Amino acid sequence: MAIDRIDEGKASGHGVVSDQIPEAIEVKTTPIPKVATGIPAILHSLSYGLTEMGPIRMTRAWLAVNQKTGFDCPSCAWADPDGNRHPFEFCENGAKAMADEATTARVTPEFFAKYSIAELSEKSDYWLNRQGRLTAPMILRPGATHYEPISWDAAFQAIAKELKQLGSPDEAVFYTSGKATNEAAFVFQLFARLYGTNNLPDCSNMCHESSGWGLNQTLGVGKSTVTLSDLEHAGLIFSIGQNPGTNHPRMLTSLLAAKRNGATIIDVNPLPEVGLLRFKHPQEPMHLIGNGTRLSDRLLQVRINGDVALLKGIIKTVIEAEDRSPGTVLDWEFIRGHTSGFEEFRDHVRTADWRQIEEQSGIARARIAEIGEMAAKAHSTVICWAMGLTQHRNGVENIRELVNLLLLRGNIGKANSGVLCVRGHSNVQGDRTMGIWEQMDEGFLNRLGAEFKFEPPRRKGYDTVETIRAMDAGKVRAFISLGGNFLSATPDTDVVARGLGKCSLTAFIATKLNRNHLVTGATSVILPCLGRTEIDKQTSGQQFTTVEDTLGVVSSSRGVLAPVSKEVKSEVAIVAGIAAATVSGKGEVNWANFLDYDRIRDCASRVVDGFEKFNERVRMPDGFYAPVPAKQRRFATATGKANFTVNPIRPLQLAADQYLMMTIRSHDQFNTTIYGLDDRYRGIHGGRRVIFMNRDDIAEAGLKDRQLVNLTSHFQGERRTVRDFNVIPYDIPKRCTATYYPETNPLVALGSVAEISNTPASKSIVISIEPAPATISADRSAVDA
Ligand code: SF4
Repeated sequence: MAIDRIDEGKASGHGVVSDQIPEAIEVKTTPIPKVATGIPAILHSLSYGLTEMGPIRMTRAWLAVNQKTGFDCPSCAWADPDGNRHPFEFCENGAKAMADEATTARVTPEFFAKYSIAELSEKSDYWLNRQGRLTAPMILRPGATHYEPISWDAAFQAIAKELKQLGSPDEAVFYTSGKATNEAAFVFQLFARLYGTNNLPDCSNMCHESSGWGLNQTLGVGKSTVTLSDLEHAGLIFSIGQNPGTNHPRMLTSLLAAKRNGATIIDVNPLPEVGLLRFKHPQEPMHLIGNGTRLSDRLLQVRINGDVALLKGIIKTVIEAEDRSPGTVLDWEFIRGHTSGFEEFRDHVRTADWRQIEEQSGIARARIAEIGEMAAKAHSTVICWAMGLTQHRNGVENIRELVNLLLLRGNIGKANSGVLCVRGHSNVQGDRTMGIWEQMDEGFLNRLGAEFKFEPPRRKGYDTVETIRAMDAGKVRAFISLGGNFLSATPDTDVVARGLGKCSLTAFIATKLNRNHLVTGATSVILPCLGRTEIDKQTSGQQFTTVEDTLGVVSSSRGVLAPVSKEVKSEVAIVAGIAAATVSGKGEVNWANFLDYDRIRDCASRVVDGFEKFNERVRMPDGFYAPVPAKQRRFATATGKANFTVNPIRPLQLAADQYLMMTIRSHDQFNTTIYGLDDRYRGIHGGRRVIFMNRDDIAEAGLKDRQLVNLTSHFQGERRTVRDFNVIPYDIPKRCTATYYPETNPLVALGSVAEISNTPASKSIVISIEPAPATISADRSAVDA
C-alpha cells in the first residue's frame, strides 16, 4: 500500500521523534582542508579534553587509553599495535569519545525533575548528549510526565515484573550496542536465553552483517584474516567504501607504514575523503611540518553501489592477463587445492560486458584496466572495507566479489594478504563472539546449555529489522537495551518510534541521555552504568573487562578514573541484577558470582569456541587472537573449500528527477553520538542538515548552493520526506548524493534491506529533491532562533 510519511516529530510513546534539531539551519562552508590530522587534530583533541574533563582527568585518561595496562578506547574497533606502544596511542576521535564519556557534566535526578519528557523532546540530540553522565537509576511510570528516582533493587524488580507477565519469552527483545564488553555480552545473552528467547539483535545487524554472510559463504568465517603487520607490509591495498580519516583514524598510521614499505593504495569511494588523500602523523613531530604524505595512489570515484561492476572489471582484467600469459598470473596451486567454483565464475566474468561495467561503476575502462594490471602483479593484496559495501540491497554480493578478486592470486592465508572488514564500534565483533546473535550455531547453544544446565531456545530470534516489525505489530512488549541508541541508529525512524511506544516496558543500560530514553514504552527505566574509562570495583576486588578488535585480537581493559557517581553500577552488575530478579531458579547460575569477572571468563572459556584458557591468555600483555581458520587455509564452508561465487551486476534505474543517496557520518560524530556541528574535513560548519550534490546536477535541477530543499525517498510506492536540507555543491559522481545520519534515517524504508543479511540499505536510497517552501523554512528558522 502506498504511504506518504513526513517526518515532523510526531508523538510516540512518552516522547517525540527527532527532526526537531534546533541547530542553525544555515550552515557555513569553508574550503576543504588538503591534509588530515596533524596540528589541527591535536588542538581539537586538547580543546575537547580540557572542556569536558579538565586537565587532570584528561591527562590520566590520555596516558591510559589503548595502553596494555589501561582501557580500550570506547570509540571504534581499530586494532592496537603489537609490541611497543606510543605514550599517546589514540586519535582525535578517540579523544572526543573519552572526553564525551569522562565529562564532568552530570545528569542528576534534579535534572529530570526540572525537565519533562515533552521539554526534553524539544531538544536536539546534540544538546541531550552535552548534558553529561547519568548518575542514578530513574523510572518513567505509565502516564507520567517526568522520570523519577528509583532504587536499584526496585528497578530490577520493576523490570522483572514486566518480563514475568509477558505471554511468551519471545515478546521480549534484548538489544546490544557494540560498546558492551565481552563479559557484559556473555552474561546478557545467557540471561536472554535462560529467559527463553534468542531475540538478541545488535548494531552489527545494521552495519557489517553483510560482511559476516559474504565471508562465511566464501571463506567459512565472518572475520578479518589479516594482522596489522600484514596490512603494513602488503604490496597492494584497496580501501573500499570507507573513510578512515573520520571513522577509524589510527588506520591512517598503518596505511602510512604500508606506504613507507612500498604499498600501492587504491581508494574506492564516491567521495574524495581527505584522510586518504594526505595525512600528517600526529605522533611524529617532523611529520607535522610540511605537506604530510599522500596515502592513496589512485582515487576511483565509483558511483554509489557501482562496486560489483568495478570489481568485475578488475577481475576481468586479471583473467585476461592470465589468458595472455597462461600460468603466470593466477595462483593455480591455490585455486586447484583450496577453492571451489572457479570454472563457472571464470565463464561468468568472461561474458561480463565492458560497457555495462563502465556505466554502472562510473569508471572508464582504461582506469579499471590499470588497476587490474596492478592486481595481476601485486605480490600480496589486502582489501579493507566498511559500510560503503555492506548497506546495499546486494551488500553480501559486494563482499563475495571482493573475495573473488583475492582468491584469484591466493591472497587468503598468505602473508600480507587477505580481507579486512573495518568494524565500527569498539567491541561489536567481541559481542558476536560471546553469543550476541539471534541465530547462534548449535555447537554454541549446546555448550551453553551444558555449562549452565538448561535447554537454550532453538527458534531463530529477531534481528534488528525483524524486531522493529514485531514491535510495530504489537508482538514485542519489552525492550531491554545494553547500551546504544536504538531509535536513532535504526532505519524508518517513525516506525521504530511507533513500535517502542507500543511496548509495556523499555529499559536502557546507558552512560548518557539519548533520544531513545524519551521515546519509550509505558514504563521506562534508565539504568546508569560505568564507562570504559572508569575503575570497576566489585566486592571481590577491582575488575577488568575484555574486548575483541576488528582484527580479532582479544585484550583486557582497565579504567583509571573514579566512577561518575557512587550510584552507578557496571554493565555486568546491572545485567546480573535484572537476571537474578527475573530468572533465578532457571538453570544453574549464581548471578552474584559473576561480579568476579574471572568467573564469567571461566564459563566463557568452556562455551566460546577458541577461548580455552581465556583468563590466562587475556592476561598476556598483547592478549590473544580469536581463531580464524581461513588464515591457515582451513575453510568451514559447505564445500570445505574457499568458494568462488557469481555475482551479477544489478543496474538500478532512476527516474529523470531521482538520485541515489547514501548516509554518512560527519567528523564530529561517532555513530549516533553528535559531538559537535562541524565536519571540517568536508568544509561544513555549524549544522548537519546538508545534502552533498554534484555541481552539474544542482545546475540541471535549477537549484543553488545552500538552497533549502526537502528530500523524499521512494521505495515500492512508499514516500518518506524530511525537510530543510542545505544543498552543498560537492565532488561526487552525477546522480549521487550524500547526507548525514541519523537526520535522514526517516528516509530509509524498513523493507529496503540487503538480501540474505537483512542489513538496512542505508547507502542506496532513491530520493527526489524539491525546493523547500519558504513558509516551512521560515517556521523552522523561528524555532531555531
Ligand atoms: S582509531 Fe578508533 S580505537 Fe583508535 S583511538 Fe581512534 S577512535 Fe579510538
